[in-house]
Amino acid sequence: METYNSFKITQQQLREAAKVLNLDQSTIDLLSWPQKEFKYTLPVKMDDGKIKIFHAYRIQYNHARGPAKGGIRFHPEETVDTIRALAAWMTWKTAVVDLPLGGGKGGIKCNPKEMSKRELENLSREYIRAIATHIGIDRDIPAPDVYTNPQTMAWMMDEYETLTNKHQPGVFTDKPEQVGGTEGRRDATARGGVITVREACKTYGYDPTKDYAIQGFGNAGQRAALLHQEILGGGNLIAVSDSKAAIFNKNGFDAKELVKYKLTTGSVYNFPGGESIDHNDLLELKVEVLYPAALENAITKENAGKIKAKVICELANGPTTPEADIILQEKGIHLIPDILASAGGVTVSYFEVVQDSYSYFWSEEQVHQRLDQKLTKAYHSVQEAINDKKVHPRLGAMVVGVARVAQACKLRGWV
Ligand code: GLU
Repeated sequence: METYNSFKITQQQLREAAKVLNLDQSTIDLLSWPQKEFKYTLPVKMDDGKIKIFHAYRIQYNHARGPAKGGIRFHPEETVDTIRALAAWMTWKTAVVDLPLGGGKGGIKCNPKEMSKRELENLSREYIRAIATHIGIDRDIPAPDVYTNPQTMAWMMDEYETLTNKHQPGVFTDKPEQVGGTEGRRDATARGGVITVREACKTYGYDPTKDYAIQGFGNAGQRAALLHQEILGGGNLIAVSDSKAAIFNKNGFDAKELVKYKLTTGSVYNFPGGESIDHNDLLELKVEVLYPAALENAITKENAGKIKAKVICELANGPTTPEADIILQEKGIHLIPDILASAGGVTVSYFEVVQDSYSYFWSEEQVHQRLDQKLTKAYHSVQEAINDKKVHPRLGAMVVGVARVAQACKLRGWV
């Protein structure tokens, strides 16, 4: 199987958007690369008393529209190019939903599944000691991503506040509510995605009460399982997968029970009533809505032709390669691209920064309502670009995001 370089993919996506927008060469050159990259080699004390070395990154892709914003991943396959790609996608994502933020991403090459809680805390704190001078509410605001969570943010915030000797909760988002987190952040990525599916159904007549499937059952996948039914008034969850298993039931799973099972056992493996299927087959099931919610490059030219979903809502970052985008478009599949479909998380992160900055918190309903407004508007702006420019869905979203970032760079006199 072909291996993909996600950063090269983001550069290709940018070139395509730049062509549609007629951007000048200096703007293209500037937007093709991160503005700042930090690499660290971190020594961390492990439970056996030995020191282990970890490679860590923080990349601030572009800050023309505001401070860099984006998560921190803990993953064994992390490389500088995966982080560059994720940082680029954050830049277009914050612009697509029109937040006053730039884009960034961090990552540590590690296997959190083989580390104790104390080791993860030591690593999180060491990382912050390394990057502290480069982050801040007016520089760069991290959040969780794959295999990090509100607890990671609480440790990181605590280390940062200790180093700077002041309370600054807004430097990290998706914190626990007890230490400055906002209502409605934990399910925000999935909620935003489901809102875009709702708009697609209303506009183009898809039926959300039919079958749906979810690839990846981390935070976003689990919440989507529940919110699909709650927001769209029905739907039959016929298949889910995680890194250990993929399961299928043509009559549909009880989404609540499945999430409970995953949270207690750590996997969907052996869930009662689930028939074990191949991971790849899940993506090719006949469903109304497919939610890729795992990692990059899941839908490629190898399998895109076999996909039977009517709507694809990308909760993961970068799940589809450029060749696959063309195949899906030719098949008439309604793709809601990652930089739009997964923008709910960073949208509520922005709300969290705003609330932290005046230390006054909104109700859950207010958060939901404001998120809904942002995502509904973004969905329709992207549809407008797709129709106006006659481009495939990802290119439509890129055109909206890149145009805004390019304008900000121009206004600042950078290009
Ligand atoms: N990690 C999430 C994403 O990829 C959220 C980022 C954030 O809230 O800053 O969109």
